[in-house]
Amino acid sequence: MRIAMIGTGYVGLVSGACFADFGHSVVCVDKDANKIAALHRGEIPIYEPGLDELVAANVRAGRLGFTTDLTAPVGDADAVFIAVGTPSRRGDGHADLSYVYAAAREIAAALKDFAVVVTKSTVPVGTGDEVERLIRDARPTADFAVASNPEFLREGAAIRDFKFPDRIVIGTSDERARKVLGEIYRPLSLNQGPLLYTTRRTAELIKYAANAFLATKITFINEMADLAERVGADVQDVARGIGMDNRIGPKFLHAGPGFGGSCFPKDTRALVKIGLDHETPLRIVEAVLAVNDNRKRAMARKVSQALGGQLRGKTVALLGLTFKPDTDDMREAPSIPLVTGLMDMGARVRAFDPAGMTQARDELPEITYCEDAYHCAHGADALVIVTEWVHFRALDLVRLKQAMKQPVIVDLRNVYRPEQMSESGFAYFSIGRAHHR
Ligand code: NAD
Repeated sequence: MRIAMIGTGYVGLVSGACFADFGHSVVCVDKDANKIAALHRGEIPIYEPGLDELVAANVRAGRLGFTTDLTAPVGDADAVFIAVGTPSRRGDGHADLSYVYAAAREIAAALKDFAVVVTKSTVPVGTGDEVERLIRDARPTADFAVASNPEFLREGAAIRDFKFPDRIVIGTSDERARKVLGEIYRPLSLNQGPLLYTTRRTAELIKYAANAFLATKITFINEMADLAERVGADVQDVARGIGMDNRIGPKFLHAGPGFGGSCFPKDTRALVKIGLDHETPLRIVEAVLAVNDNRKRAMARKVSQALGGQLRGKTVALLGLTFKPDTDDMREAPSIPLVTGLMDMGARVRAFDPAGMTQARDELPEITYCEDAYHCAHGADALVIVTEWVHFRALDLVRLKQAMKQPVIVDLRNVYRPEQMSESGFAYFSIGRAHHR
């Protein structure tokens, strides 16, 4: 199949490279000329494990190309995927669809023979109808169908998720579109792949419902963690104890500083707005958002409490800045409100992240960036584990203690065991477990 991928970000580049690896012929298009130039030089504009080899191999094999001009690839394509951003609209939290609609108009102008236009971006229910209308208005005689195929990959494990998905959701009532998309995903499995065919509107809603459910699960265990701290219980055991129940499942029950990233916050916000637009308030999702927002701010207070309630003139060292490990993505990372809160309370902040420091510098220009965990800990009154990068899971505690001014650790990811930390002479504060001084 010939595929044009419009938008070459986290989703577009991974999807494009994986489709090429399945044997399809793929051209990835992006408006950002710097991104395309970098890809032509063989550089990968994002950090995603394994992506550099995958892209290089498929470029060498002649199945993957890059351009800033969609005219030729769209004209040749069996399927045109829209994988542009759908950020929160400034001010009201609705999904900003301007990039999707702009892409649809450009695609309309370039369509030749029959092609399926597929929204891979996360878009509110009814967006497929609007994309169809836009293209139809611009090109009344064009032969095309519009389908929804939301993406469920996770940054940091994106290639594996794309190649071995739990399910692929295809929303369309058009028989030709169904065939093309079935053919595109066929190489994924020798037998019938985990394909769920449904209507376009249902597919659009599945994506938001999935993200909102996961965000709810995280927020639920975070509230249980707060309660566990108060009543002297251990949230790790609570998570295990409920997760062993198959009806609940063990995933997404890791208590932490609140969810962030490029998807959960914006998608839960957008879903709340979709509900309101259709006179169906989604109270659970609204509560999840409010609880999570408060939690992110509360993390700075937690650090302050670990230092006796006074941060003025203190130095706080942060390990990890990205919203999760194995990505350089800083969008809505919990580290951002944490840093702001710490600085508002008068702290000096030092930080180290294995992949996210270039992106972090734009968001957080006022902190001191360090070379590694030990350099970061140097002279610190408290060390905070913000992201559970593998680099921070087996730190040399003796060296760390020597580097710090005071041996205080606030572990927002429960990477360490409280007993081990107190044996090593640290005052240790974690999430949903008793404090050890
Ligand atoms: P991104 O910001 O990394 O990439 C979007 C790219 O689209 C940018 O490079 C931008 O320059 C380009 N673009 C915008 N308008 C364009 C146009 N008209 N023509 C060509 N290129 C254009 O975004 P992302 O993280 O890849 O997310 C894309 C979509 O996928 C969003 O709707 C997001 O919600 C969804 N999604 C993201 C993830 C994830 O983990 N990042 C997972 C599942 C779904």
